[in-house]
Amino acid sequence: MPNPPANTSDFLPGPVLLLGAPGAGKGTQAKLLMDEFGIPQISTGDILRAIKNDPVKANTPEGSQARSLMEQGLLVPDQLVNQLVATRLTEPDTARGYILDGFPRTLNQAEWLDGHLTGSALPVVAISIAVPERKLLERITGRLICPVCGTIYNIYSEPPKTAGVCDRDGVALTHRADDTEEVFRERMKTFDQQTAPVIEYYRSHGNRFAEVNGDQAVDVILQSIRAALLKLRNQPAA
Ligand code: AMP
Repeated sequence: MPNPPANTSDFLPGPVLLLGAPGAGKGTQAKLLMDEFGIPQISTGDILRAIKNDPVKANTPEGSQARSLMEQGLLVPDQLVNQLVATRLTEPDTARGYILDGFPRTLNQAEWLDGHLTGSALPVVAISIAVPERKLLERITGRLICPVCGTIYNIYSEPPKTAGVCDRDGVALTHRADDTEEVFRERMKTFDQQTAPVIEYYRSHGNRFAEVNGDQAVDVILQSIRAALLKLRNQPAA
């Protein structure tokens, strides 16, 4: 087997959880970390969208329930999401580390993850990306995504070179069905009620948690995350 590249997940203190409100930039940063460290991004939102868009799975009771909840800005049941994560974590590409993007989103999911990973070589580290609420709406309503490579653009702050077209693939960019102002308001309520406590849960484990200012340029946020990961790596485990 060839040696891993110089930038390996050996740098990382453990699997990385990216936490934050809708539009905080979790997906954007997860993709950059994935490219840099050669470990997969596991986005529960992406997995659920793939189910919702799959002609067979979308018509199962679970598929149609997931679609309806996502379109309302509500969370899909913990049991389903936990099971999807458990299955994904059995895949060999997660052996050298992974980035969980958008999971856990409830205290129940966080506790399940702790139990599931008991005995793993390295405990998870949680990075919270903090962005003032008034900035999030613009990020959500301006967001465009490449359906092929997943690159995330924003028509206001990170526009593609040609309007509506992916710089990498040249394909037409798409807008997520739940990226409307109305659904954003519901997603924020869900975040405040169910996910903000998850951030406090990890914050209380200070040596496995860091918060970065997400109200900066994409590359500056990435640098802050790198610095936080390095600091966490050099801290003794609890
Ligand atoms: P995201 O792409 O992370 O913004 O997620 C889009 C939608 O998928 C959310 O608004 C939820 O409806 C659903 N979802 C994603 N991750 C989770 C999760 N960990 N728990 C429950 N629902 C989730």
